[in-house]
Amino acid sequence: MFKTCPHCQIIKTADQFHRDRQKSDGLSTYCRECRNEMNREAYQQLTTEQRRARNKATYEASREWKLKRQSERYHARKAQQGSSS
Ligand SMILES: [Zn+2]
Repeated sequence: MFKTCPHCQIIKTADQFHRDRQKSDGLSTYCRECRNEMNREAYQQLTTEQRRARNKATYEASREWKLKRQSERYHARKAQQGSSS
């Protein structure tokens, strides 16, 4: 699958885009390279206070995600055990 990045206008393969489940094609709008560049620029424009807040938000989001995954796995395992016996 090929996709054109609207930022660099280069046709790239799907693996050169980040995955984004919210998008209809499951891929991020911009390619990895552009995304990285944008993120870096956006990050550099942040103040120290904003960076701190962002890091905290990222940390909490990933922690929540991990907890959610853990509980999902736990329930999936329980359900499997229940059906096998
Ligand atoms: Zn690009």
